[in-house]
Amino acid sequence: MSEKPVVLMPEDIQRIMGKDAQRNNILAARMVAEMIKTTLGPKGMDKMLVSPTNEIVVTNDGVTILEEMQIEHPAAKMMVNIAKTQDIEVGDGTTSVVMIAGKLLENAERLLDQKVHPTIIAKGYKIAAEKCQEILNEISIRISPDDEEILRQVAMTAMTGKGAEGSKEKFAGIIVKAVRQIEDNGKIDLNDIKIEKSKGEGISDTELISGIVMDKERISNDMPSVIKNARIVMVDFPLELKNPEIDTKISVSSPEQLQGFLNQEERGIREMVGKVKETNANVVFCQKGIDDFAQYLLSKAGIYACRRVARSDMEKLAKATGGKIVSNINELSSSELGNAEVVEEVKHGNDSFTYVRGCKNPKAVTILIHGGTEHVLDEIERAIKDGLGVVTSSLKTRLVVPGGGAIEIELAQRLRHFGQSLSGREQLAVEEFASALEFIPATLAENAGLDPIDVLTELKSKHDSGERNAGLNLFTNKIENVLEAKIIEPYKIKTQAINSASEVANMILRIDDVIASSGKGKMSGMGRMPPGMSGEEY
Ligand code: ADP
Ligand code: MG
Repeated sequence: MSEKPVVLMPEDIQRIMGKDAQRNNILAARMVAEMIKTTLGPKGMDKMLVSPTNEIVVTNDGVTILEEMQIEHPAAKMMVNIAKTQDIEVGDGTTSVVMIAGKLLENAERLLDQKVHPTIIAKGYKIAAEKCQEILNEISIRISPDDEEILRQVAMTAMTGKGAEGSKEKFAGIIVKAVRQIEDNGKIDLNDIKIEKSKGEGISDTELISGIVMDKERISNDMPSVIKNARIVMVDFPLELKNPEIDTKISVSSPEQLQGFLNQEERGIREMVGKVKETNANVVFCQKGIDDFAQYLLSKAGIYACRRVARSDMEKLAKATGGKIVSNINELSSSELGNAEVVEEVKHGNDSFTYVRGCKNPKAVTILIHGGTEHVLDEIERAIKDGLGVVTSSLKTRLVVPGGGAIEIELAQRLRHFGQSLSGREQLAVEEFASALEFIPATLAENAGLDPIDVLTELKSKHDSGERNAGLNLFTNKIENVLEAKIIEPYKIKTQAINSASEVANMILRIDDVIASSGKGKMSGMGRMPPGMSGEEY
């Protein structure tokens, strides 16, 4: 009997097995962490990313860097995903989560070298992560949602060291005010805060508008450019008769017929605009088109109108002005109107904006960022989004923790203590978990040009003697009570980061076989290591 080879998979499958797969994945994940390490903390550096189309992004933001880098290695991609999750869930802490995951894997490698089985390491890490949650629940600081001072400090901590640093006090004030304003029965939806950017003035001109700003101009110069005591109609149907999306054909056989048709169109539009006028409105925001004749009639009536307003803006306008978006002209009545103190067209540089401001108790507001260039505007936007994220998160959980590495050191100390109660090799994993957390303060120190070992030693001894809030204050470069130095972060940054980091580390640790179909990109990079990081070292 001749032996036929058994073919399980197509020939062009790439496969890496056992230790090779494990080490390769760990290395890739560590490289991701290594890459963004220098951006951590207020003294971290920025990165300049140039896209294939030569667009430039200058940023300090972990998740932005990772997204722009177009990472292909599958394990490295998993690291990028935890940064994305962190960004969605908390809005900040994206560098930290990746760094902790990277360090967990690096430390796991040490245990693998000592022949500790990956499942034991994973189990130990899981125990450690759960213990961390428990400790965090115990030692986090409860805040009152009315304590706006603390909320501002949380926002400022998130913005320290970013492009927004110079105006962070002002920004923190804007952020806290905006979030509190849109809070609706304890619910906060950050979609209700519109961020609009305007190139021109300086960063410090950034403003909070109790209403909506859109980069739209009024459709005709014959319309008034300012409307006081605005009564606003919002419609999501076109103020034109023919549906421009459908190509209609009409056949006419005589000039009279054509005239009749045109008259009929005109009458229809007159009727529509008449209905708008009947409501006593002086502003119209239309999600669709407004044709020339309607435009003429609206101008004549002294009405300010914008067309093709984005749906997302329409929804925010409704929330800000207290009006309703009307979908049928026959349902239009004065009770659907929104109100604002002023609607006006404002020019910044070459761009015209429509401001809807002075809304009474608006449930949607706008932060209008000013700045010299697009790169500046984008980086400020990222910083403000971080601030919005941490303030929201602090309000939701009402819990905060000391920053500057204080909480990480406290967690590490308590974990080590707890580890002693465990038997066997899991204890080793818990210890490695603790030392991975110390990577945060160590890197904060290193990035500020301080000696990480000195800093860690001092931090540990202070925490040993019960100073639970001792952290590295990078305003003074000293180990101090960071709560007093107002370096405060939301509890959720830490719980989310620790959970995701340990989950992804465990997932990567358990993989001992990578099977990839040869579709482009899937395994690319798996064999290639940059100089200095070749697999042989490991
Ligand atoms: P991430 O993307 O993880 O948020 P950041 O670059 O924003 O990374 O850095 C966050 C770290 O910087 C946190 O550990 C935070 O406690 C720390 N940090 C912020 N402000 C200060 C400060 N003034 N002194 C020391 N550490 C600070
Ligand atoms: Mg941050």
